Amino acid sequence: MSEQWIYLNGEFVTKENAKISVYDHGFLYGDGIFEGIRIYDGNIFRCKEHLDRLYDSAKSIMLDIPLSYAEMQDALVETLRKNGMKNGYIRLVVSRGPGNLGLDPTRCPQAFVVIIVEELSIYPEEAYREGLRSVSVSPRRNLPDALNPKIKSLNYLNNILVKIQSNLAGVGEAIMLNSQGYVAEGSSDNIFIVKRGVVYTPPCYIGALEGITRGAIIDLCAKLGYPLKEEPFTLHDVYTADEAFFTGTAAEVIAVREVDGRTIGAGHAGPITTRLLQEFRKIVTVEGVRAFE
Ligand code: PMP
Repeated sequence: MSEQWIYLNGEFVTKENAKISVYDHGFLYGDGIFEGIRIYDGNIFRCKEHLDRLYDSAKSIMLDIPLSYAEMQDALVETLRKNGMKNGYIRLVVSRGPGNLGLDPTRCPQAFVVIIVEELSIYPEEAYREGLRSVSVSPRRNLPDALNPKIKSLNYLNNILVKIQSNLAGVGEAIMLNSQGYVAEGSSDNIFIVKRGVVYTPPCYIGALEGITRGAIIDLCAKLGYPLKEEPFTLHDVYTADEAFFTGTAAEVIAVREVDGRTIGAGHAGPITTRLLQEFRKIVTVEGVRAFE
């Protein structure tokens, strides 16, 4: 990518000039929402689902997005075209905007929209075959009656505490439990396990984001005839699973080979995980909105 252009509230500025106010409540309080989206071969994967989640999060926190749904989609497309970005990652942020030092969001008259597009590759290809090592960590997932994990808010401190622990443990992704000890999700990925041919993922009420990749995998399981259950499970079920994998926009579908020192299944990506990754990579260029002709 030559010059990187950032969409900043309706204008394109260079990365160096992409600045926001220190009074922005996104900065002061994590007051805002975001999406991480992928473009594959000119196709914005499941764009509608991402924008639905964004607008639902906005409604939940009473944040007025200054763009209509169609205008937001146009802004994404325009930013991608401006950057000539056909394969990459899109970060869409809507903060409450600049206000004063007080908490009160009514003092923030105008929400602030930022779109950043970048190239992305988080794991080398062999990691998808070999699988990641993972650990369970002590920070519990936000309770749905505190900050509902369905809201993709800018308040990621919970997840950052998890990332600190997974870094200390030297693993790529961690497993977060909810306050009752049920498996919730990773720091920025949903989790699935496979046992005796059945695919399991925690229901979102356990304390998981309604991941777009998670949704795609649920759809693929139906298409491929893998029985799938959204039901609560514990670390015991993960340790004794035949396969386990994380899903997320950045990670796609990545196998887990070890959790808390226990080898999962054969200790590398299992057949169902491998098939789901293959099929997932087929739909990413097809399902969504084309940004380039
Ligand atoms: N859980 C959390 C906490 C996340 O941040 C993400 C990444 N957005 C996910 C799950 C995976 O969601 P998606 O498939 O929409 O990227």
